[in-house]
Amino acid sequence: MRVVLLGPPGAGKGTHAVDLSKEYGIPHISTGDMLRAAVKAQTEIGIKAKGFMDKGELVPDAVVVSIIRERLAGKDCKNGFLLDGFPRNNAQAKMLDEMLAGIGAPVQAVVYLETSNATIIRRLTNRRVCKSCGATYNVLTMPPKKEGVCDLCGGALYQRTDDLESTIMNRLKVYADQTADLIDYYKKKGLLKVVNGDLDRSAAYKEFQKTLASIS
Ligand code: ADP
Ligand code: ZN
Repeated sequence: MRVVLLGPPGAGKGTHAVDLSKEYGIPHISTGDMLRAAVKAQTEIGIKAKGFMDKGELVPDAVVVSIIRERLAGKDCKNGFLLDGFPRNNAQAKMLDEMLAGIGAPVQAVVYLETSNATIIRRLTNRRVCKSCGATYNVLTMPPKKEGVCDLCGGALYQRTDDLESTIMNRLKVYADQTADLIDYYKKKGLLKVVNGDLDRSAAYKEFQKTLASIS
């Protein structure tokens, strides 16, 4: 199953992708996670990306596309993948189409998590992330068992530098200006499915399961 998750920051793409990845046995590929790992490891890509990320701007297409190209070539992508945070503009979507056409394995569905601004801001300002494994929590709705500590690995939780309110506003603007057009792009291709991102985790997940049931 080859699926793209689309939706504004805070829609829940990452949260649902983790569960879907387990259920369907396909990798969760998040360009945001990969870029944060590169920043942490201070690789050449990470050093280039950090400034853009801290401002809530998109990292240049060439950088992100090279990361994705390499990742999709991985053996574990043979049976499919869940893309989270990529593509994020028209140029990236076209490059993805070309890449996948080349191996005869096009995107089969695009799930758009339609989410209101109120939900987004509430989720992002309360989001905490594990320093070690990247698991995400919400101090109000999905708190860890022990404050500040990851349930899964015991790592310390932190607030992403781009989850501060001023940067969130810019990310929403970038989303509206550059990413929202992709809804139409995939609708025209007949691939778009919509899930209500305002629902809580388990209710939204049920919608996902129903939506993806028709895709092999
Ligand atoms: P969110 O969806 O919550 O905004 P992500 O973890 O997907 O967060 O992305 C964090 C940051 O990483 C983005 O604001 C951007 O700077 C960068 N990024 C992630 N994916 C892409 C992409 N496909 N193209 C360009 N920049 C990206
Ligand atoms: Zn952890």
